[in-house]
Amino acid sequence: MPDVSPDIDLIRSRLLAWYDAHARSLPWRAAVGAPRTEPYRVWLSEVMLQQTTVPHATPYFHAFTTRWPTVSDLAAAEDAEVMGAWAGLGYYARARNLLACARAVAGEHGGVFPDTEAALLALPGVGAYTAAAVASIAFDRAANVVDGNVERVMARLFAVETPVPAARPELKRLASLFVTDERPGDWAQALMDLGATVCRPKSPSCGTCSVASECLGLATGDPARFPMKTKKADRPHRRGAAYVLIDDQGRVAVETRPEKGLLGGMLGLPTSDWATGEPIAAAPVEADWREAGAVEHVFTHFSLTLTVMTARVDADGDYRWMPIEAARAALPTVFAKALDRASVPDLFG
Ligand code: SF4
Repeated sequence: MPDVSPDIDLIRSRLLAWYDAHARSLPWRAAVGAPRTEPYRVWLSEVMLQQTTVPHATPYFHAFTTRWPTVSDLAAAEDAEVMGAWAGLGYYARARNLLACARAVAGEHGGVFPDTEAALLALPGVGAYTAAAVASIAFDRAANVVDGNVERVMARLFAVETPVPAARPELKRLASLFVTDERPGDWAQALMDLGATVCRPKSPSCGTCSVASECLGLATGDPARFPMKTKKADRPHRRGAAYVLIDDQGRVAVETRPEKGLLGGMLGLPTSDWATGEPIAAAPVEADWREAGAVEHVFTHFSLTLTVMTARVDADGDYRWMPIEAARAALPTVFAKALDRASVPDLFG
């Protein structure tokens, strides 16, 4: 981060003034200066917006609040009705949490949402972000409301060079510098609006941004590169061999892989080690080996080229011998591919 610091008070006053003039009109939002939105509507909208965008969430919000105007109405609904109304909004786990929370508010708090961040956080399915958002927007509590949008704005305002996710605690700390008892709900919503409409992920509209003079990211000439991302390490490539041994009854040799390590405890074909250099250890038994080509497979941490070697042998006690089709069904994908590659009928030609 550069030595100079943005002026926190100036950013607050400019952004709040911008919000007073340009706040988005949202169905769950009270107009600037109007009485605060009731907590039920704030909470419901925040849960929906974790799944989707404002335009997609809006009809769902209207449908829910028409059908269940209060949290107690929602708490009394049948599970299946709520799940049905949620269809199209994504993870049903969130709908189940929504119901659990509504029932906790109705059952344990007399149908009234608690008004502190800590008490909100204690409700089922309410995480740090939602608790802070409801506390600030519905109850005007000084709470640090930090989601991906706010992280992006902070990373740009302060030109934070540390990549995410490592930068997250720092971005949260920077966001907390702006949280005061003065208009905390409006501040949270002003930041949300800035992230959604001006300081957008790909093309920030710095020319219209009310806090541009204080933005260190803009001063670098390339604000969109913040927040920095951790580069994904290139996946290393390994090579190895898989051995398809077929006995005179047309069965294939398989073995259980060691418990520890890749595909641990699963069924496998005999293999060489899989190494990043040139392979390949000697075959596991003396035989008239033929090379049947290679298969490619991508694991999470490396990619693999597996040369497939085939031979007919007499069954021995070192391996389990399985009918080909049973083995193909039981083997993990990489070995099933190798078995297919071995073109087993050719071995009997
Ligand atoms: Fe975001 Fe640009 Fe405003 Fe900086 S000047 S906060 S990068 S929109």
